[in-house]
Formats: sequence, structure tokens, C-alpha cells
Amino acid sequence: MCFKTREEQIDPIVHHDPLTGLMNRAGVHDRFAQVSAQDRFNKVALLCLDLDRFKLINEMFGFIFGDLLLQSIAERLKRFVFEGDLLARVGDDEFMMILTHVSHAEEALKLAQKVREVLSGPFTLRDHEIMMIDFRITASIGIALATPNEEESEILLKNATTAMMRAKKEGGDRSQIYTPEVDAAALERLTLESGLREVLRRNELFLEYQPQLELKTGKMIGVEALVRWNHPDLGVIPPVRFISVAEEIGMIEPIGEWVLQTACAQNKAWQRSGLPPVRVAVNLSSCQLQRKSLIDLVARVLKETELDPVYLEFEITESTMMQNIETTVETLSALKRMGIQISMDDFGTGYSSLTYLRRFPIDVLKMDRSFLVENSGREDGMAIMIAMMKLAGTLRLKIVAEGVETEDQLEFLRLHGCDAIQGFLFSPPLSPDEIAKLLKKSSLGFGRWQQASSERGGNRICWSS
Ligand code: C2E
Ligand code: CA
Ligand code: CA
Repeated sequence: MCFKTREEQIDPIVHHDPLTGLMNRAGVHDRFAQVSAQDRFNKVALLCLDLDRFKLINEMFGFIFGDLLLQSIAERLKRFVFEGDLLARVGDDEFMMILTHVSHAEEALKLAQKVREVLSGPFTLRDHEIMMIDFRITASIGIALATPNEEESEILLKNATTAMMRAKKEGGDRSQIYTPEVDAAALERLTLESGLREVLRRNELFLEYQPQLELKTGKMIGVEALVRWNHPDLGVIPPVRFISVAEEIGMIEPIGEWVLQTACAQNKAWQRSGLPPVRVAVNLSSCQLQRKSLIDLVARVLKETELDPVYLEFEITESTMMQNIETTVETLSALKRMGIQISMDDFGTGYSSLTYLRRFPIDVLKMDRSFLVENSGREDGMAIMIAMMKLAGTLRLKIVAEGVETEDQLEFLRLHGCDAIQGFLFSPPLSPDEIAKLLKKSSLGFGRWQQASSERGGNRICWSS
């Protein structure tokens, strides 16, 4: 092939991958220097291709098959490189291509699509005629377009890799063009990851508590503990931005333990200062629920903080509960035996059938906020919410609506038998001191709520004196 003659100008031993005969990472830099010396003005495309779940193939079929597969993939990829281009294997299952004849994003995306199509065709691998395996493979491709410049080769290669990692993060089996936004997202991710590893040691987490109001009595019956991260450079970061990252890097368990410990200790502190007792609800992530050690942890925290288990509740999303039904039922039953209340969070967004609702030992359905947001004033949506409230009644479960923001929503919920509400109408999440003030008012016996504007949450219900 033509490109081979060019490669021969470069030291074959230092720059070649013995398995595939392609260039290695060192070879990429040399080729880049050659390309930029020839033409510094026309853009070229850099493709970084990483196989999806290659580790699994090695584990399932062994390294001999893994190596055979890499060789076959290299052969297929050679179809896309022409004179002046480069194809290299730069990692176990990572390939890099410099395509000098591709200079536009659209062309590059089309080509990447073709590459993925060609790789997706079945591979038949024979190991000394003893075993034959047929399978299909998918890949994630990152693309960077740039005018070749020797000094910046490292950055350009990194950009293609960053884009590839983004494609992986989105689920793999896709292509992604590098843009500064992709870089910003990668940088933010890196900042969050490294910060999260230190977050407990630096004591940067804090909890806010959002009250829940029982509609029948007008009383505050509980609070939900919501974690926040006070980042030294980025300010206060909401949980939606860091919980999933914490889950991925294995930090959710220590963080979850801190949340549980802090919420239980805080609840006990309110009670010790003579405020009327309420339940504190703690969100559990799926990693925590799957751990056998959860029960021991909860028992230990309750003992240490001396909180009565009836004042603790766990909120677990419907989709988390459905992940591993046997474990879920077992764990929830153990928690319930301890006297803890269980609530199914974001109810209505997952796929639990009625059978499962009966099987899970739960006390509360927490209707997802999206129902109120999307369906206010829409008849079909309102009918669904009414059905959910009826269902809760039939199954003898309490139903709590979250994200209640308007009087109209409140009236609708009250009319159809909703038990409790949580939302900005009543109160946003508050600091422990602010909760203490609310509880104090509640203990003075003002049971009537009226709407007033507040500094923090806009419309809000307040006790009238
Ligand atoms: P979630 O459990 O559904 O919590 C309710 C979220 O809705 C909270 O957002 C709350 O501030 C917000 N919210 C409450 N009322 C209203 C309202 O009237 N209008 C609007 N627009 N929003 C309202 P937040 O605090 O940002 O929490 C987001 C999610 O982060 C939570 O959703 C929960 O899934 C997760 N999360 C929070 N704390 C923890 C934690 O300690 N552990 C775990 N695993 N997840 C947590
Ligand atoms: Ca929740
Ligand atoms: Ca929720």
C-alpha cells in the first residue's frame, strides 16, 4: 500500500506496533511533523477510535482472540487511509488516524460513520482452527480538525481523544467532533472528579432541608435532606451536577454516609432543643442500595446519633428500586423492620408495574415534579395524576407531591386526596436554623397557612398569627 512507502522513512522498530504492524504513538508524532512540513495551510482530520467494551472480549474469549480481533480491525481500518495519511494503534484498543484528504466537519463525520459501519460487520476469528467465534463490535470515534502544526501536535491529538471520551460517555457507538465546549465539559468533569475525592476531607458539603406539609392538618411533618457542595472556585454546586459523577468514581458511598450521619444528627439536635419531632428523608443512590453493608451502616448511624428510626425515611427512586428487584425487596424489608419509612421517589417516571408496587415494602409514593410542571391545565395529564392518587389510596400508601409551586396546583392536589406536598409554594430547601424557626412556629400551634411573598422562594405559604 502507498502509505507504507512513506512509513519506511521512519524508524520501523521504534515506531511500529508489533501486533498489527501499524505505527504506534511515537510514530503519530513523527508523521504529524511530516504532514505539517508539507502543508501548513489545509486542514486535516484526526480520528481517535476506541473500541467499546473491548476488555469484556478479552475476558470472555481470552487474549489470543483479543489479539486476532485487533489485527482484523487494523485490516478493516486500512481501507480508509491513502497516501500521506496515517493509521496507528496508540493504546490497547485505541487507534488514531490522520486523514489528509478530509478537511470539513461534515466529511469527517460521514467518514467516521462509514468506519463504524465497516467495523460493525461480523468478525469470524479462528484460533488454530480449534475454536471459531463470530461477533460484532462497536466503536466510539472522536474527531479533531486542524491545520497541521508540529508544535501543537500534542494538543490536537488530545482534542481528538477528548472528543472520543465524550462519545464514550454518551453511551459509545457514536462519533463526536471536538469543539471548545467539549473541552470545557471535559475540564469541568476533571475539576469535579478531583474535587469530589477531597470533598469530605475539606468539609465542603452541606445539607439543606425542604419541609413537607401535610394537607389534612396543615402541619409540617417532615423535611427532605438535600446535599450541596460549596466548591472553593465554582461556588455552590447543586446535587444534579455532582451526584452522578460521585457515583461513577466510587465516591457516592462515603458521601452518602456523610449525608445520612449529618441528617440524623441534625434531626436529633432539633428534637433535643425541644422542637416538635419530624421525620428526615434521606435520598439513597442505587450504589448504596445494592450494598449489603447498608443495613449495618444505618444501624450504626442510628445508634451513634440516638435518633429514633421512626424519624428517618429513605427516598429511593422508582428506577433504582427496579434495578435489582430481589436485593431491593430484601434491603427494604430489613430497613422497614428497623422502623424506617420508605418512599418511592420520582414515582411515575420509571416502569414499575402494579405487581412490584405491591411487592416493595414501601410507605409513600412521591409523585414526580414533572407531572405538575407538564400537566398543569392539561386534562389528560391531570387524569393521570388523579389516577396516581387513587392508586396510592387503594394500595394504602401515602402520596406526596413534590415541586408544588402554585395555589392552583395545591387546590387540585387537595381535592383529589393528596396527603402531603413539598415545593416552593410552601418553602424552598432551608438551612437548619431556618427549619428550626419554622418548627418553632409550628409548635406554637398556628395551624393556618396563608400565602405571602418571601425573600427566597417567591410565593410561599406562611403561618398567620
Ligand atoms: P429530588 O429527590 O427529586 O429532590 C427534589 C428536587 O426538587 C430538589 O432539587 C429540590 O430543591 C427541587 N424542588 C423542590 N421543590 C421545588 C419546586 O417547587 N420547584 C422546583 N423547580 N424545584 C423544586 P435539588 O436539591 O437540586 O436536588 C436534585 C436531586 O439531587 C434530588 O432530586 C435527588 O435526586 C438528588 N439528591 C439530593 N441530595 C441527595 C443526596 O444526599 N444523595 C443522593 N443520592 N441524591 C441526592
Ligand atoms: Ca428525593
Ligand atoms: Ca423526587
